[in-house]
Amino acid sequence: MKKAVIIGGGIAGAQAASAISGMDVTLIVGEPYLPYYRMRIEEILSGKEPEGLEMHPQSWYEEKGIHVISGVAKRIADSSVILEDGRSIPYDRLLIATGSNARVLDIPGGRRRIFTLRTASDAIALRDALSSAKSFAVIGGGLLGLEAASAVAEDFRIPVSVIESAPWILPRQLDESSAAILQSKLAEKGVDVIVSGTVASADDSSVTLKDGRTIDADVLCLSVGVEAAKRIAEESGIECGRAIKVDHSLRTSMENVYAAGDAAELDGRLFGLAMHAREMGAAAAKAMTGEDVDYRPSEPSALLKVAGIDVISFGIPEGEMKVEEDGDRRRTFFIEDGVIRGAVLLNDKASMMAVKAMIGREAE
Ligand SMILES: Cc1cc2nc3c(=O)[nH]c(=O)nc-3n(C[C@H](O)[C@H](O)[C@H](O)COP(=O)(O)OP(=O)(O)OC[C@H]3O[C@@H](n4cnc5c(N)ncnc54)[C@H](O)[C@@H]3O)c2cc1C
Repeated sequence: MKKAVIIGGGIAGAQAASAISGMDVTLIVGEPYLPYYRMRIEEILSGKEPEGLEMHPQSWYEEKGIHVISGVAKRIADSSVILEDGRSIPYDRLLIATGSNARVLDIPGGRRRIFTLRTASDAIALRDALSSAKSFAVIGGGLLGLEAASAVAEDFRIPVSVIESAPWILPRQLDESSAAILQSKLAEKGVDVIVSGTVASADDSSVTLKDGRTIDADVLCLSVGVEAAKRIAEESGIECGRAIKVDHSLRTSMENVYAAGDAAELDGRLFGLAMHAREMGAAAAKAMTGEDVDYRPSEPSALLKVAGIDVISFGIPEGEMKVEEDGDRRRTFFIEDGVIRGAVLLNDKASMMAVKAMIGREAE
């Protein structure tokens, strides 16, 4: 039987492993857990253990015939993956699904520890630090930063601040007025959002902004985006841009090697969303078994619950705005050249599917 090897047990890798049929599948897992729901690692902050987030028990992999190997892949050479501990795993088809790493910033001021939140191990380290902290701050008011801030405000009941350099939070998903509504809800929950705030320095108890303001931060977390984990590909001679370049069959520049998820770059575009990681993992599984695949990513969407409000965004929040309000429900459409390019829903989960279907259609 031909051998399919997958590097990375994240969403794309786990999806591919469960979808490949007729091949002997090996999944190389670089973290100390079986594949788990990364999007739920905030639950670790409130006391859950990572094992409780695992997608399947060990027995599931055994029943499916998926060999799970614990180890970090270092190099690809001569149709084999070489692990850091020297083991060599041969493949007929290889999928690189190494995801991304949290971006880090060099902040002056001598602070000894700055956390990030990407893995279950990061969440455990953050939880331990928060157990004796009197204040918490997050740099970055994107989806992850806000989720972390509201989870900490709820679980630890300490002052929480979010520092965002853009003029409003979730600048990639929300228009200014939707962001203002969300910001006031966050304030009610104990999260103080500072917009247009640029960090100048950080010491062990606070952060100082360029305008001189000081924010208490016994514990400080960076949430300023991610960088594709493409090193193994680059060092093995596979063509990379900001991530590993793939075509619409998820093939890389190296024969029999595919890439999917956050680690992949398609038509110059990076993804960074679970939905695309899942789609690409499934598409790569087909391509690896010889099926014709022409992967076209679906429109990006994000679903977030912050301070009790459902925030759903589709497409791109740019263009002429059309707002519909109905009590505390609010729908904002973004229209360009007469076509609906994006939408933001606040407190209106019921309209989600209907609004999703409107993206790309002509506005009335
Ligand atoms: C806290 C949090 C909340 C999120 N919330 C959302 C959300 O609400 N909606 C959404 O769409 N997206 C969300 N995301 C983003 C989403 O989780 C990612 O887009 C998705 O996980 C990407 O899947 P992936 O399989 O490409 O990579 P990952 O899930 O990052 O998995 C990659 C895996 O590969 C492993 N790996 C890397 N290098 C090696 C190596 N050399 N050898 C072996 N293993 C290796 C890594 O350790 C990791 O386990 C969230 C992310 C986080 C961190």
